[in-house]
Amino acid sequence: MNDPDCLFCKIIAGDIGADIVYETDQVLAFRDINPQAPTHVLIIPRRHVATINDIAEDQAEDEIGRLYAAAAHIAKDAGIADDGYRVVMNCNEAAGQTVFHLHLHLLGGRNLAWPPG
Ligand code: AMP
Ligand code: ZN
Repeated sequence: MNDPDCLFCKIIAGDIGADIVYETDQVLAFRDINPQAPTHVLIIPRRHVATINDIAEDQAEDEIGRLYAAAAHIAKDAGIADDGYRVVMNCNEAAGQTVFHLHLHLLGGRNLAWPPG
């Protein structure tokens, strides 16, 4: 396991259950346990990275690009791609990050206010 104390690493390892909607060799996506929209999926790298600040610069394009590619794929599958959706990645406490394993929120299926609170 990447980080034995990390909740999302435990999901990757299969030690904690999740409603998985999409996976590749490098990425796992599962439904948020406390959904904020009809579609609320978390997209994570299988490799443990705590925050955006911890992505190695030479890995950033691949690491982040894969998460966005997965988001577009899942949005199309969910039928929300044309209406629109939001992807959000919180970094550290001021932004509300509570799980310190990189994750992209995919939110859709309703109109989303902007700017966010
Ligand atoms: P953040 O606040 O950006 O760190 O987002 C963490 C997200 O993880 C929250 O939206 C939680 O509802 C979600 N979450 C926490 N535990 C689980 C879990 N076991 N399965 C699925 N989602 C979870
Ligand atoms: Zn982790």
